[in-house]
Amino acid sequence: MTNQIELSGVNKHYGAFHALKNINLSIAKGTFVALVGPSGCGKSTLLRSLAGLESISEGELKIAGELMNNVPPRKRDVAMVFQSYALYPHMTVEENLTYSLRIRGVAKAEAKKAAEEVAATTGLSHLLKRYPRELSGGQRQRVAMSRAIIRHPKAFLFDEPLSNLDAALRVHMRKEIRALHDRLHATSVYVTHDQIEAMTMADHVVVMREGIIEQQGKPLDLYDKPANKFVAGFIGSPAMNFIPAVAGEDGKSLTIDLGSVKQKIALDHQVQPGRKVTAGIRPEHIGVTAPGQGTFDVPVAVVESTGSSTFVTAATTPELTIVETGRGTARAGETIGAVVDPSQLHLFDDTSGARI
Ligand code: ATP
Repeated sequence: MTNQIELSGVNKHYGAFHALKNINLSIAKGTFVALVGPSGCGKSTLLRSLAGLESISEGELKIAGELMNNVPPRKRDVAMVFQSYALYPHMTVEENLTYSLRIRGVAKAEAKKAAEEVAATTGLSHLLKRYPRELSGGQRQRVAMSRAIIRHPKAFLFDEPLSNLDAALRVHMRKEIRALHDRLHATSVYVTHDQIEAMTMADHVVVMREGIIEQQGKPLDLYDKPANKFVAGFIGSPAMNFIPAVAGEDGKSLTIDLGSVKQKIALDHQVQPGRKVTAGIRPEHIGVTAPGQGTFDVPVAVVESTGSSTFVTAATTPELTIVETGRGTARAGETIGAVVDPSQLHLFDDTSGARI
């Protein structure tokens, strides 16, 4: 398969600040890629570099096989969709849609026909004569996407497009954007700080931190096998528990240190005897049973239930978070047995944070 976007050895400096560090990324045609990471990790800089709104300091950036390093934004044939919509307030929806075609010399009737076609795809046919102020947030977002679609770009670049919408509409729009991507056989790069959005929408997730790519891969591969402690803590909600631990003399067990609770637990693979590690376990992978029946007992500090799940915080150091499905059985102030399956444990090097 051909790569629609290819970045190799890309670096970006803002003066003395190194914002992108040796970025290598190949995006196959038709793929939906999410760039995700905490604030300041460089995801917007990377997206803006693709659009040509930032110039890269080193490396190669190719779109559809062509080197784009020095190609101005309007000649890259990519379309940006922003959270602020960037619609022209004095133009109707139809005029907003046809504007980019008209300035490129497309005849009025042809542009109108293109607008009607795109509006039919995005469910805007009945709103073509309205002004942006007469639309809801979701409808404005759809106009912004339609305006990108009408140009048949080589790639769609989304910069946190759903940040302005309320929670319910965000969930709805993320399905809508993904469905549109599939229908158009588009290539999409989507920036978000929301790992749930990244996990649910993308084929390929790129996790960034401080200008580097920490890990990239299929969403569930990142969840199942995070390459390091950072990715492990970033992907998954609530976040993975991290517990200081030391490997036993046999290398087949681990003593975890939860302050008042110190417990030897079995491992399903060999590690260097006596090695200091961080043991990671996801809240949804700890079972709850009666005291004395689990892997170890913990006192319960807080229980919060949403009805569909129950979040249990154990009074340990560090605190342990456990998620039970449904209403759960743990009660604040009582002691429970926590069940840990060795195959669900993730081990990380104590100093580098790399997966062991
Ligand atoms: P956010 O989610 O907050 O938007 P981000 O991951 O998109 O964060 P970027 O906007 O790409 O982050 O910024 C990456 C880093 O580069 C930040 O530390 C930012 O302060 C810095 N930066 C961005 N633009 C400039 C600029 N024009 N000059 C200097 N530094 C900049």
